[in-house]
Amino acid sequence: QQIYLNGEFVQKHEAKVSVYDHGYLYGDGVFEGIRVYEGNVFRLREHLVRLYESAKSILLTIPYSIEELTEIIVETVNRNHLHSGYIRLVVSRGEGNLGLDPASCPKPNIVVIAEQLALFPDELYKNGIDIVTVPTRRNRSDVLNPQIKSLNYLNNILVKIEAKLAGVQEALMLNDQGYVAEGSGDNVFIIKGNKLVTPPSSAGALEGITRNAIMELGETLGFIVEEKLFTRHDVYVADEVFLTGTAAEVIAVSKVDGRVIGTGKPGEHTNRLLKAFRQLVVEDGEK
Ligand code: PLP
Repeated sequence: QQIYLNGEFVQKHEAKVSVYDHGYLYGDGVFEGIRVYEGNVFRLREHLVRLYESAKSILLTIPYSIEELTEIIVETVNRNHLHSGYIRLVVSRGEGNLGLDPASCPKPNIVVIAEQLALFPDELYKNGIDIVTVPTRRNRSDVLNPQIKSLNYLNNILVKIEAKLAGVQEALMLNDQGYVAEGSGDNVFIIKGNKLVTPPSSAGALEGITRNAIMELGETLGFIVEEKLFTRHDVYVADEVFLTGTAAEVIAVSKVDGRVIGTGKPGEHTNRLLKAFRQLVVEDGEK
């Protein structure tokens, strides 16, 4: 496996950065997770725009243009002969001293990893997953905006831990007002009648690239697509519920906090959307 590290390709065991990197010391940096489908990088430009926007918001200058970073990513994919898989792109503030001030970090560390992806087991896609809501809340957008995909993922990690403690794989996070925000690393949709609804970014949902694709496909398939606040009750009484994300794609939810959703099996609309999504990812790639 060849990993891109600051202008070079190195082996995994050589891909190391300093313990003085502020990404390590403080979670100071930004990242993206991107999919490769049949040799095509799915919506690479959208991922890169989100990365540059996250970086801009935390005053981190990425020393490459989008075009240069695109080339680096494509080269990493090619060098690893990755037909289908996952790319992790990380830009950390870089090495500095122990103080908080990023002025001591003259050069960001840039890493691109391209490898196989460990998906949820197939059985979960067939049967749907059980999820719960957890105590950890989504931080408010006026504190640290959830649109910034920063290296501070403690909220999300706590959600994952709390899900596992409850005996399930995934969970929903509410915001400080009790509205549903998103999963640990996924967006959430509910279907009621012909409405396909997902929380707005103001609820604390990341504007996921899979989420965007599903909203587009939803319109094409004739749903009324809405970004609207909703509560746990709305989730419990929805016809269908599913999660979306780069890694998870589209995964049906069969139970939420012990309430069975619909028939308890992936619903027909979720299956239609998953099918349309799987078609889109192979048709819509960039390379
Ligand atoms: N929400 C959070 C907090 C995430 O980290 C991710 C993953 O990037 C998502 C949602 C899903 O977004 P995307 O579809 O762009 O992967």
